[in-house]
Amino acid sequence: MKSLLLLSLLLAAADARAALRIVATVPELADITRRVGGDLVKVDGLARGPEDIHQVVMKPSFVTKLNRADAVVYLGLTVEHTFLTGLLGVARNDKLMSDPVKQCAGPGCIDCSEGVPVLERPESLSRAEGEIHPLGNPHYNMSPENGPVIAGNIARRLSEIDPSHAADYGRNLKAYLAELEPKLAEWRKRAAALKGVKAVSYHKDVVYLGRFTGIEFVDTLELKPGVAPTPSHLARVIQKMKDQGVKLVVREQHFEPKTCDWVAAQAGAKVAVIGVMANAFPGTETFIKFSEHNLDALLEAGGNR
Ligand SMILES: [Zn+2]
Repeated sequence: MKSLLLLSLLLAAADARAALRIVATVPELADITRRVGGDLVKVDGLARGPEDIHQVVMKPSFVTKLNRADAVVYLGLTVEHTFLTGLLGVARNDKLMSDPVKQCAGPGCIDCSEGVPVLERPESLSRAEGEIHPLGNPHYNMSPENGPVIAGNIARRLSEIDPSHAADYGRNLKAYLAELEPKLAEWRKRAAALKGVKAVSYHKDVVYLGRFTGIEFVDTLELKPGVAPTPSHLARVIQKMKDQGVKLVVREQHFEPKTCDWVAAQAGAKVAVIGVMANAFPGTETFIKFSEHNLDALLEAGGNR
């Protein structure tokens, strides 16, 4: 009996060694990687979820994780540029080299934005427009319809990195999509109640979500992306909301509740609080729960009834 136990422990240890060590920048990518990788991967996350994706605080443990990783799964389009690029610069891992635009270069880089129909590619790269993402708006993870693209990218790249298990990754992807696709269909139906609803958001991160739900985002409370609101800008936004009958303010969970509540009160609007990544709220640690939470919040505050 004892030797059997020892044997199973040894086998478990060998299994753990064999698993690919993956670092995922945000919780929903960690979730999808676990689903697609199954027990062939060991996934560590960086951002926890409630923080600003553009301001993730770097910890020394992040460097250790990236130094030992076989691959890093990230959103790309420079959304993690304030932390991932710098961390990779000091992590000294030949599979994952720091790149100023692509963030990561090397055989272990899994860029989930590949194949995503990117919105708002800037025509000019002037910083006068605020915090600029030269490759386009990077917040595509906030639209549920990009889930299958993300999962497909992870499966494809894991199969390239670990070809002997390609069939496993393919099978896991299929199983995940069999769960996600019916949800997408259900969410599309529910989102019909948001079609044509006008709204303002705090940050300019809702363009993909707007496309999925049909919500028409007419302005942001931020003066420009990454630039705090000024009183005169807020006064203009409130006037615009009154003129256009905008009754919905969308606040990303980590941004100013007081400012958003005040603007909403001035314009007679309701506030929906959403996450910019999974786990922004307790119980939303997966891509599916995160997508569902955001849709519920939008319907609750802004749905046509
Ligand atoms: Zn942004």
